Amino acid sequence: MFEWRDAPRADFAVIGDPVAHSLSPKMHNAAYAHLELPLRYTAIRVERGEVASALEHLRDSGYRGVNVTVPHKEEVLGWIERYEPMEPMPAQELPVNTVELRGRTGTNTDAPGFLRTLASALPSPLVGKRVLLLGAGGSARALALGLESAGYEVSIFNRTRSKAGALVAGLSLRARVLERPDPDGVGLIVNATASGISGEAPEVLWERAPSSAVAYDLYYTAGPTRFMHAAERHGLQAIDGRAMLMEQGALSFEWWLGETAPREVMMKAVL
Ligand code: NDP
Repeated sequence: MFEWRDAPRADFAVIGDPVAHSLSPKMHNAAYAHLELPLRYTAIRVERGEVASALEHLRDSGYRGVNVTVPHKEEVLGWIERYEPMEPMPAQELPVNTVELRGRTGTNTDAPGFLRTLASALPSPLVGKRVLLLGAGGSARALALGLESAGYEVSIFNRTRSKAGALVAGLSLRARVLERPDPDGVGLIVNATASGISGEAPEVLWERAPSSAVAYDLYYTAGPTRFMHAAERHGLQAIDGRAMLMEQGALSFEWWLGETAPREVMMKAVL
């Protein structure tokens, strides 16, 4: 992990704070090695308020692109000049997790990456199209738009209810804002809160969840997360965010390089 002013020579990076824990360098470097591409990917810490200066510096140092993680996905919108939606997402501007530095262009691969995992990474097929989405931050915003445009019926619960209301209004969604984290009748419960980062899990009325529901934590740790433990205690199947990490990374790779990403190699690198 490097501070942005001391960034080494490389081609791509993930910027965030904290960022030392990120598996993105391992995953992208494994892909480059597999395809024998002479590229290097690093992790770079950037403090809040310094995103624009850091991106200028990285671009002038020869970097081609960055992935953006917590807490910078909104701040980066102030630097990019063009937002390019990625299929199958609609045109609305979302928090940016992938930047092409020379063209000052940004996109969001989190939501399309997440949608792909619904077909490929779940422990069992989803029953029905109803989803309980927890959180109202950047990831929740992207996922709410992605899920709804893919035909899912979304209910959102956030600790601070007004933020869930603002999310729905801001994107003109049909999603319902809940007063309680009630998973009654849903096929999927998604934890898109930042609670995992502080070792916590969001509140869920687990006893009301159908036993066929799948619990999906965007967060990941070495073992099962607290959210996954809670779901499993109530008999639900649960997965963590590593498959999504791989898919959003593979889509960033393809957007930057125009080459098919070696998904199996990238998945192996994050397991
Ligand atoms: P944000 O900081 O934007 O998310 C903030 C949200 O989390 C708010 O809704 C906030 O509620 C809620 N929150 C924070 N702490 C708690 C808590 N203790 N209990 C309940 N709610 C809480 O983060 P992001 O949306 O960018 O990321 C969310 C999570 O998704 C992170 O864990 C991140 O690592 C993960 N992620 C994983 C990816 C992957 O590829 N696997 C990709 C992107 C994100 P309030 O409004 O009340 O403050």
